[in-house]
Amino acid sequence: MKTNILILGGGFGGLEVATGLRADLEDNFRITLIDKNDSFIIGFTKFDLMFGRRAPEDIKAYYSELNKKGIDFVQDTIEQIDPENKVVKTSSSTFTFDYLVVALGAELHPEAIPGFLEGGYSFYSFAEAQRIHPVIEKFSAGTILISVFDNPYQCPPSPYEAAFQLHDYFKGKGTRTDITIKTLAPTPIPLPMSKDASAALQELLGQHDIEFLPKHKVTALVPDKKHALVDGKGPMKYDLFLGVPIHMPPKVVLDSALGQNGWVQVDQNNLRTAFENVYAIGDVTNIPAGRFAVPKAGSFAEDAGKTVVDDILNTIKQENKSVKFNGIGTCFLEVGSGKVARVDGNILGNPEPQLTFSGPSEENRADRTAFETSRIEKWFK
Ligand SMILES: Cc1cc2nc3c(=O)[nH]c(=O)nc-3n(C[C@H](O)[C@H](O)[C@H](O)COP(=O)(O)OP(=O)(O)OC[C@H]3O[C@@H](n4cnc5c(N)ncnc54)[C@H](O)[C@@H]3O)c2cc1C
Repeated sequence: MKTNILILGGGFGGLEVATGLRADLEDNFRITLIDKNDSFIIGFTKFDLMFGRRAPEDIKAYYSELNKKGIDFVQDTIEQIDPENKVVKTSSSTFTFDYLVVALGAELHPEAIPGFLEGGYSFYSFAEAQRIHPVIEKFSAGTILISVFDNPYQCPPSPYEAAFQLHDYFKGKGTRTDITIKTLAPTPIPLPMSKDASAALQELLGQHDIEFLPKHKVTALVPDKKHALVDGKGPMKYDLFLGVPIHMPPKVVLDSALGQNGWVQVDQNNLRTAFENVYAIGDVTNIPAGRFAVPKAGSFAEDAGKTVVDDILNTIKQENKSVKFNGIGTCFLEVGSGKVARVDGNILGNPEPQLTFSGPSEENRADRTAFETSRIEKWFK
């Protein structure tokens, strides 16, 4: 009888586990990956959709390719996870497992901010990034607000990357001097985990004539007046509003024994949950790091995936190799003029979480391109 390894979610984390285990395990191990979508896209390629630089088909990698690698891909919606009885139900089937890896990411809740669905835009989902493109194309003058509503959210530098890219886009069109760009965050600094990285980011924002407004928590939009309501500060006028939707654990996780405390709790060394042979990785987890938590970003999910591969192989092969999740990852910021900045995180490898800001530079741009192509190569080719 085959050993069943079931992976829920085909993002950075799930893909790393599925392909990493397949490379090391014989055919008597069945590896199944379930995702509701037919394809994967890298987070930052949503900016390519937003600015119309690439067509949707150019950024998609189809999960059907996984079947050629000996991974059973199932396109279906996961409706129930029972880690105690080792059963997962989708809208059309029931799966049992010997090992389970939950890599379902974070769920976006734009409706949590009143007026945002009607009056604002986002670049956090494939559909939203496409929806905003014609709006930006037509925009020629006025105030753009880019708001972080709350923490946690994916890739903390991303809202500021949106601001840099808008700056560059409108500069290219010759309309930048007629447009004011402001970024708003509920926190005192843009990247609360690091004063130094925040200072470098704020300096770069200033050089691009982009305002950063700290302690500005937007609680609602009034679309007919084009007002953003800011906690304790009153209304702010906007002509175009971009927001980072509230992130929550997926409902199917909250409804399960894994989500009783919200984000899934794991052993931070090996990503095991409280249930035997059940792991959770990536954005669906909360891993404390001092006063903070491991950021929600693809590269951290991938690093967690590598850790889980090692831990499962240790168990299966009865080896005793050391396994430790350090929380290593990078978020890139395309700032225009062909240059890219980056924030590198080493979150659990030292007594204090460390973030390093570097660039902008052309070398970082090459690294960002390689980040995308190397992931598609290792997971889909
Ligand atoms: C604009 C932008 C820029 C970014 N830039 C970077 C960057 O530079 N570096 C970086 O590291 N990260 C970046 N990120 C963040 C990164 O994309 C996410 O943090 C990462 O995708 C999380 O990986 P994951 O595997 O945890 O979950 P995800 O990639 O979100 O994958 C979860 C999967 O689960 C599936 N799923 C969820 N619920 C169900 C269900 N009920 N049934 C079936 N399937 C389901 C989803 O379809 C999805 O494919 C960026 C994100 C954005 C939006």
